[in-house]
Amino acid sequence: MNNIDIFSPIYKLNYTINKNDIYIKREDLIPFSFGGNKVRKAKLFFEEIESNKHDYVVTYGSSSSNHSRVIANMAKSKGINCTIISIEGNNHTFNSKLVKMFQTNVILTKVERIKNTINFVMNDLMHKGYNPYFIQGGGHGFFGTKAYVDVYKEIILYSKENNIDFDNIFLASGTGTTQAGLVIGSLLNNDNINIIGISIGRKRTYGRQVISESIYEYLSKTKQIFSKNIINDKIKFLDDYLLDGYGSYNEEIIKTISNVLNKEGINLDTTYTGKAFWGMSEYINKNNIQNKKILFIHTGGTPLFFTDLGRIMK
Ligand SMILES: *Cc1c(COP(=O)(O)O)cnc(C)c1O
Repeated sequence: MNNIDIFSPIYKLNYTINKNDIYIKREDLIPFSFGGNKVRKAKLFFEEIESNKHDYVVTYGSSSSNHSRVIANMAKSKGINCTIISIEGNNHTFNSKLVKMFQTNVILTKVERIKNTINFVMNDLMHKGYNPYFIQGGGHGFFGTKAYVDVYKEIILYSKENNIDFDNIFLASGTGTTQAGLVIGSLLNNDNINIIGISIGRKRTYGRQVISESIYEYLSKTKQIFSKNIINDKIKFLDDYLLDGYGSYNEEIIKTISNVLNKEGINLDTTYTGKAFWGMSEYINKNNIQNKKILFIHTGGTPLFFTDLGRIMK
């Protein structure tokens, strides 16, 4: 894993929405554990874990969590112990099955007991003589943000090499650091690309607040300053396509997933990328955006495509 230089392709789809060119960045093709944005983040977290000689990694996520799968797989591949705290009563997904396959220590708990469970697990491990490292859900934190500041450089490089100026970037936005990193990348590049996060779980106010905190954390650690207004204007986080919240989907999302697979051979899922792709299409049509160059970040989640397939396409 340490030897893999992570890079993902960008290319133009045949698929158009309201006369806009749609490009895609295939983060789902990153060559580790079925890919996705969580691999980018995990790589940086594990560099920290290894350089500080931690011997145990602890994190949490829902049963759909791509983050949990990637952390469990990376810990396994490096021979580092791993505990995943997961929410009980969730539906089983291929992600949760994979986590078990890595012989990870899984602790099931209720949502409202997550914080206590984390404290208990961390204290218990330290008591037993381990040097554990805790990663917040979704790979939240400085390294999660940094991963996508770096990705933005790949996008700039592609734009320059191919002489393509993107007007908008759309992505599925969850715990926020993917979007925070891209926003910082755009600020540092001094461009005016609209980065539009389609919320897959959070309401607007809270979602924006967390993204903005991640931006300030990164800027303060790297000693850079931007005005509050500039930062606020840059955060575009839409909760209009949430439906009933995290994990919920409708017929249109399923149609979108099937369309994109049929026309482009690309897998999306109902929780993250399919919801975001659908939200993006709705937004473009509603605002009658035309003749623009739009980049969709495929943030991964391949195992969830198969979970969906089993649930929906019986
Ligand atoms: C986690 C995840 C996201 C959201 O990324 P955040 O950095 O948490 O906002 C989007 N898509 C997929 C497939 C994910 O696994």
